[in-house]
Amino acid sequence: MIIDSHVHIWLRDHLPDPMVRAYLEPLRALKDLFDMELDVENVWPDYGVDVSKVLEMMAAGPVDRAVVLPIDYNIVEKARIDIEDYNAWVFEEAAAYRDKVIPFVGVDPQRGDRAIGIMERFVKRYDALGVKVYPATGWYPNEERIRKFWTSANDLGLIAVTHAGAAWGPLDDRYTRPSFYDDVLQRYPDLKVMIAHLGGKYRQETYELCAKHANCYTDISALQGWLPSDPDTCLSRLREVAEKVPDRASFGTDFPLFDLSYASSMWLSFVKDRPWADEDVKAKVLGGNMQRLLGL
Ligand SMILES: [Zn+2]
Repeated sequence: MIIDSHVHIWLRDHLPDPMVRAYLEPLRALKDLFDMELDVENVWPDYGVDVSKVLEMMAAGPVDRAVVLPIDYNIVEKARIDIEDYNAWVFEEAAAYRDKVIPFVGVDPQRGDRAIGIMERFVKRYDALGVKVYPATGWYPNEERIRKFWTSANDLGLIAVTHAGAAWGPLDDRYTRPSFYDDVLQRYPDLKVMIAHLGGKYRQETYELCAKHANCYTDISALQGWLPSDPDTCLSRLREVAEKVPDRASFGTDFPLFDLSYASSMWLSFVKDRPWADEDVKAKVLGGNMQRLLGL
C-alpha cells in the first residue's frame, strides 16, 4: 500500500493573503533556477485545490491513501473564512472518499480552549485521526501554555503532525526545531508525533528524537525540492532515512506545493526506483509505517 502522508487542500479564501504571497517565494526561486515558463504570479494568487485534484494526483501515482492536512495560519494573519469552517470543508470534501482520503484537523494550539473544542468536535463528528500543527505561527511545543492542548490530543488518541524547518513570510522559523518536542514526546509516550520534512535543516534533531522516543515519526515530504536539479542530495537524505529511521519515516508529497515544478507522481517514482534502500525498507517508508500508525 502506498500512502502519501502529507497533502494539502484549500479554497483561496481559506488562506490569509500574506500566506498565499509567502507560498510564492520558493516558487519564484524555482522559477529563476529553472527558467520556468509558468507564470506563478498569475497562477498562484487565485489558486485553490479541492479533493478532485488530490484524487488526480493519487491516480497518477498511483497512491492508495492520502492524509490531508489543513493549516491554521489565522492567528498570524486572518483568512476570510473561519478555521472551523475550513476544517469542516476539508472533512466534507473527503467524506465521499473515505477509502482513499484521510483528513486531519488543522488548528493552532495558541487558540487554547477553542483549539481543544475543535479537536473534540471533529473526533466526535468525523472520527478524525490526527491534527496538524504549525509552530511557526509563534509558539514553542514545550511551552506550559500549550500543555493542555497536548493532553487533549493525547486523550483523543490523535496523531500530531507538526511542521518543522523553514518558514516563510510572516511565519517565524525560530519555533520550528524538532528538539522542542523532546518534552512532549517524553511526557506523552502514547502520543504519536510526526515531524514533517525530516525536520528540514534540523534533521539531525529528528533522528535523535526518533532514536530516543518510540512515539516519534517523520515524513519525507518536500525532499523533492532538490529535484530535478540535485538528485544526489535527495538520494543522500533518503539513505539517511534508510539508515536512521527506516521504521519511522513516511512518504509524503506536500501536494500541491511542489507540483508546479516537479510532479508528485515523479517524486513517487524517484522514491520507488532509485537505489537508496532495499525493497523491504522502501515498502515501509512508502506505506507500511503510516499504515501501522493509522491502524489501517
Ligand atoms: Zn505541508
